[in-house]
Amino acid sequence: MMSDCIFCKIVQRDIPTPLVYDGEHVVAFADIAPIAPVHLLVIPKRHVASLNDVTEQDGPLLAELLRVATIVARESGIADAGYKVLIRTGADGGQEVPHVHVHVIGGAPLVEHIAPREE
Ligand code: 5GP
Ligand code: ZN
Repeated sequence: MMSDCIFCKIVQRDIPTPLVYDGEHVVAFADIAPIAPVHLLVIPKRHVASLNDVTEQDGPLLAELLRVATIVARESGIADAGYKVLIRTGADGGQEVPHVHVHVIGGAPLVEHIAPREE
């Protein structure tokens, strides 16, 4: 655990956030600033800073993050209509919280928005 990491604090329950999924290695909760009707975050309980820090040994953990993404999407009622799964990585990827997380975004038709930022 990283003591100054906001997502580690959510895992530790130091920041009280309702969990939509609470597993052995992974938890999921609603994004505090949703960009769609359904916007959930799936994170490992163990602090891993970004996708760049995932190692070969973390293969099962990556699989679990995606598996839980499908579970919470289904439980939220968006699975059949479809949704977007997003892992921002590093500065250019727009990652703001340095604890790897999978965004699950849906509940409405989504626009594509993957392009260099216009300054
Ligand atoms: P990133 O930009 O790193 O991919 O995404 C970070 C996400 O975490 C953002 O969508 C932001 O709204 C969300 N977030 C930041 N702080 C908190 C928090 O304390 N609680 C919750 N539930 N979400 C947070
Ligand atoms: Zn952390």
